[in-house]
Amino acid sequence: MTHEAVPAALTTLAEDEILFRDSVTEFAEAQIRPHVREMDDHAKIPRALLDQLFGLGIMGIEIPEEYGGAGARFFHSVLAVEALSAVDPSVGVLVDVQNTLVLNAILRWGSADIKRRYLPRLAADTVGAYALSEAGAGSDAFAITSKAVDGGDHFRLNGRKLWITNGNEADIFIVFANINPEAGYRGITAFMVERGFPGFTVGKKEDKLGIRASSTCELILEDCVVPKANVLGEVGKGYKTAIETLNEGRIGIGAQMIGAAAGALTHAVSYTKERKQFGKAVAEFQLVQAQLARAATDVEAARLLVYNAARLHDAGKPFLTEAAMCKLYSSEVAERVTSLAVNLYGGYGYVKDYPVEKLYRDVKIGQIYEGTSNMQLMTIAKQILG
Ligand SMILES: Cc1cc2nc3c(=O)[nH]c(=O)nc-3n(C[C@H](O)[C@H](O)[C@H](O)COP(=O)(O)OP(=O)(O)OC[C@H]3O[C@@H](n4cnc5c(N)ncnc54)[C@H](O)[C@@H]3O)c2cc1C
Repeated sequence: MTHEAVPAALTTLAEDEILFRDSVTEFAEAQIRPHVREMDDHAKIPRALLDQLFGLGIMGIEIPEEYGGAGARFFHSVLAVEALSAVDPSVGVLVDVQNTLVLNAILRWGSADIKRRYLPRLAADTVGAYALSEAGAGSDAFAITSKAVDGGDHFRLNGRKLWITNGNEADIFIVFANINPEAGYRGITAFMVERGFPGFTVGKKEDKLGIRASSTCELILEDCVVPKANVLGEVGKGYKTAIETLNEGRIGIGAQMIGAAAGALTHAVSYTKERKQFGKAVAEFQLVQAQLARAATDVEAARLLVYNAARLHDAGKPFLTEAAMCKLYSSEVAERVTSLAVNLYGGYGYVKDYPVEKLYRDVKIGQIYEGTSNMQLMTIAKQILG
């Protein structure tokens, strides 16, 4: 075998990937870090920060350059979400939903007309959201009861969506509704809905345990008029759009989890090297060293799963099982590692003056959204059992 034929290590990044990741990290440290506490306290991401994210090109990573985007790959989205989440997983998920759900769905399923109308806005200054879940339809996502009725040149949508990330900031929403409830999931259709459409309102914002700065809102559709040209993909094929975008989206959540876990580990390493008890740095105790070593191994293993799933995606290879595994595992690792970081900070880990209590709260969501851990286990089991 020639040297060239040996595949690179999964963590070996291309030159452009290194530059991109480092620029996002630099931005996150300089522009986000100073505001993390305030954004968490006020449960809000300021518009000025959104403008900076657009300016940096990380709200339109995969949008082709002809529409004003960065023309990069899915793997770049993963790197961006990881780097941002090491500092603030709330900003991480905002960028994640924009790229791995909203843009992915439009790039894959959007008509030429939808791409022309929406991609330039999403690349320039407009936040998107992805609205599938409802009060009675979470894990059983296809049980949605939002309905769309054909009105000639438009559809009329009625229903309520729950838990919609970016609900406060978004102006463009991908909304799933059923055009033929009798046909079950085969009636589900995806629509491009704008905040200004008649009959569309953003409702209550949730008060959450973690990722508090990321908005999670109810959406209310009351005879909401959506032009037929705004059907995303085919009528009755929205279930495919939902399944396929969420398969990709969960790699993004994996990236959010490894970012947060790595961020917490970095804090724990510096703190234990500084903090003295029994006359020496806490990091000098072998028990603590073993805990840190195990956490570092956990983060590395989770990162390999996430990067592998993302690389498979970009190579056009099947990645369904790997995506489920990476989300399942990285969200468990994130819980373990952030919890250890709180422990290693002692009492200081439990208060808001230090960064680790927030990361501990933030990562709990990784086991819930974009398919709970039980749903990931079911996907993996189905694949291995055949
Ligand atoms: C902060 C936040 C942001 C979100 N953002 C979005 C968003 O942007 N867009 C969107 O559409 N949705 C979003 N969601 C919704 C999220 O995807 C759902 O909450 C999630 O899929 C779980 O659904 P559920 O809450 O109805 O729980 P349920 O489905 O009711 O699950 C309850 C429990 O039962 C278990 N369970 C259910 N069915 C089975 C089964 N068959 N076998 C074994 N166990 C099972 C689950 O694993 C879970 O532990 C968000 C949620 C939150 C909290």
